[in-house]
Amino acid sequence: MPDALYQRYLKALDTHLDHRAACTTCTNSRRCREGGRLWDAFTRSQDAYLERQRSQRGKPNSR
Ligand SMILES: [Zn+2]
Repeated sequence: MPDALYQRYLKALDTHLDHRAACTTCTNSRRCREGGRLWDAFTRSQDAYLERQRSQRGKPNSR
């Protein structure tokens, strides 16, 4: 079953890592403008994904 939220999360992570590998400005503690934007997009999609995981687990009788 395709999972749009999860796919977006993986894609955002991938995009960020690609930039991180290619960018000479970005480090683990410091990001360039584009790196910051990509990191932001990644954390947002990660939050959305994890939040959904939480709400699914919290539902009674979901299995
Ligand atoms: Zn960068």
